[in-house]
Amino acid sequence: MVRVVKILVSLFQTNCYLVIHEETNEGFLIDPGDYADVILSAVEKEGVTLTGIYLTHGHLDHMRAVERIRLKYPVPVYAQSYELEVLENPEINLTRMFLRKDYVLTGVLPLADEREVCEAGIRMRVIHTPGHTKGGCCYYLFEEGILFSGDTLFYRSVGNTAFPGGSAAVLERSILERLYVLPENTVVYPGHGEPTDIGSEMRENPFVTADGGSSDW
Ligand SMILES: [Zn+2]
Repeated sequence: MVRVVKILVSLFQTNCYLVIHEETNEGFLIDPGDYADVILSAVEKEGVTLTGIYLTHGHLDHMRAVERIRLKYPVPVYAQSYELEVLENPEINLTRMFLRKDYVLTGVLPLADEREVCEAGIRMRVIHTPGHTKGGCCYYLFEEGILFSGDTLFYRSVGNTAFPGGSAAVLERSILERLYVLPENTVVYPGHGEPTDIGSEMRENPFVTADGGSSDW
């Protein structure tokens, strides 16, 4: 069984997740966006052996703690292939805009769309969902029925498409064609806000509904 621990980080209230394989107590992090100390103490408190770090995308509030965590736990860090250029560009990763200082994250390993990985004994598939950023992706734990949706799909909302590389039309297509095809009872853990599930978003998300109708946004 898998246990998901949510750690609220950064001024942007980003959800960082510690995903734990309960039998082995190995685990991995999704989106350590800031507050490295808080994340590290959560890892220690849970007694988890960290095996990897996965990024849903390269915006500052999803990756800023990676360097400090990597100092303590030198584990591999992954993102979707197209997102490496977001991580390595201070204009697109938004550090220049929000920190008034250029910051880049390098040494991240690329994951192709549809790639299946087994991390800490947990199997998951990479689903490339561009629209919020060029190489944004979701991580689908198909055996557990869990999706980490980053800033693509939120509870009754969707990601902002106004930042560099964003596109409302592309985001809508990603949600319709890649996420609303998953089983309706898939639990969705988003990059901000409360968890949700695919079925209720298909019916009640005011931005992208399953019949293809999107409201005027
Ligand atoms: Zn973002």
